[in-house]
Amino acid sequence: MEGMQQVVGRARAAFSSGRCRPLEFRMQQLKNLERMVREKEKEIAAALRADLHKSGHNAYSHEILGVLGELALVMEKLPSWAAPQPVKKNLLTMRDEAYIYPEPLGVVLVIGAWNYPFTLIVQPLIGAIAAGNAVVVKPSEVSEHTSQLIADISQYLDQELYPVVTGGVPETTELLTQRFDHILYTGNSAVGKIVMAAAAKHLTPVTLELGGKSPCYIDKNCDLAVACRRITWGKYLNCGQTCIAPDYVLCEPSIQSQVVEYIKANLQEFYGEDVKKSPDYERIINKRHFRRIVSLLEGQKIAHGGETDEASCFIAPTVLTDVSPESRVMEEEIFGPVLPILSVKGVDEAIEFINSREKPLALYVFSNDKKLIKRVISETSSGGMTANDVLMHSAVMDLPFGGVGNSGMGAYHGKHSFETFSHHRACLIKDLKMEGMNKLRYPPNSQKKLDWVKFFVLKQFNKARLGLIFSALLGLVAAVVIKVMFL
Ligand code: NAD
Repeated sequence: MEGMQQVVGRARAAFSSGRCRPLEFRMQQLKNLERMVREKEKEIAAALRADLHKSGHNAYSHEILGVLGELALVMEKLPSWAAPQPVKKNLLTMRDEAYIYPEPLGVVLVIGAWNYPFTLIVQPLIGAIAAGNAVVVKPSEVSEHTSQLIADISQYLDQELYPVVTGGVPETTELLTQRFDHILYTGNSAVGKIVMAAAAKHLTPVTLELGGKSPCYIDKNCDLAVACRRITWGKYLNCGQTCIAPDYVLCEPSIQSQVVEYIKANLQEFYGEDVKKSPDYERIINKRHFRRIVSLLEGQKIAHGGETDEASCFIAPTVLTDVSPESRVMEEEIFGPVLPILSVKGVDEAIEFINSREKPLALYVFSNDKKLIKRVISETSSGGMTANDVLMHSAVMDLPFGGVGNSGMGAYHGKHSFETFSHHRACLIKDLKMEGMNKLRYPPNSQKKLDWVKFFVLKQFNKARLGLIFSALLGLVAAVVIKVMFL
């Protein structure tokens, strides 16, 4: 395999040629990407089936649809996002052009994880292309079929600008020794630290899309039937291998058995009598993760599920009750179809519990009481949150998607991707006239000059108070006065 230095060097040379800067070029690459997704829809679904036992329906709704939606949004909005954004001016800059010019960062690296292996690569790739960068793409080797399929992307795109590197830890390690202008990494926190340490050597900024244990508090004042249906869907989707899946439930002991009964009924409705036969239920990605999840069940009270089959990496949707906060299942992110239920006395204890742990990627609260919901929001912290549903904040294109603290840094999706992969350059274009005004900052200094500077700086251009025309006139008069006094 070609060395990483050559791959990155070629991408940098292609970026330096300037060909990915024009808007038309970026739009064309995005159109090519869209064509690829549409033409390869069946192959994408087949790869996802081979990696995660995903049905055609789920492949489309969990992965392909999101990517097509992101492409449509970005292609529609890119011209306005990429345009210079004028900023508010004041008396001193009234005659100048002042704007933010979004410019590409250069060569960026996108490293993906295996659980939504197509989306987690293509969605950031869309933002990075849209912002005008060269992008080195590294899909997860764990989802090997999708990784191979992503390698074929290069047939549709400029191959020098957007190379795909396949392989595992040695390849990623070598890649990380190279200098990038931004790295977006999706995966676990331990590797996140490795990525950040490697990036620090080059002062490369990072976006870290990590995981964690996302709590779900169910207030007893809520429609339990609806709450449990939504929780069941979000927890067991993709066999629990969703970074923002509710990791555990907190509720009062008085509703615990009802919660279990509702979840059992929902599982039966969603996946039938024999969940193993359901086309809608995925499998654990590999034996290593299978054994890790099974080991979390040891010593736990299984209220539902618990069946496993190592040969097919099957773990039935499982519910654990009366779980101790000190148990192993509560120490690490579960990332599988196991839902522990823990007892709390009420919302105060739930908030205390959540705040005593690392900041999660997502947080969920179910309640009829809006005040309680707002209280949970204001007294806790998490990457994102949804009230009275799960996962859905990630589907709102205008909301940033990312973690905080141990669950990550930075964000992407929609315009936030464009911003993540752009440098917001501050631009001020002056002319060489009105030197009278500028004389105020040149020595020799005097109290009079300071008084004028104070006047200009403190009386900021305020449309509402002063009015545009009055301000312009004032500026003009001031310029004449200064010219007379100081020139
Ligand atoms: P993974 O094993 O696929 O690893 C992710 C990437 O890191 C891979 O491309 C791999 O090559 C690379 N990698 C692994 N070990 C490395 C090392 N030692 N040095 C350099 N590179 C290395 O994925 P994973 O970590 O098992 O992913 C699951 C985790 O990701 C969970 O914690 C989940 O919550 C999180 N996740 C977060 C998001 C998000 O958007 N925030 C999305 C999906 C998954």
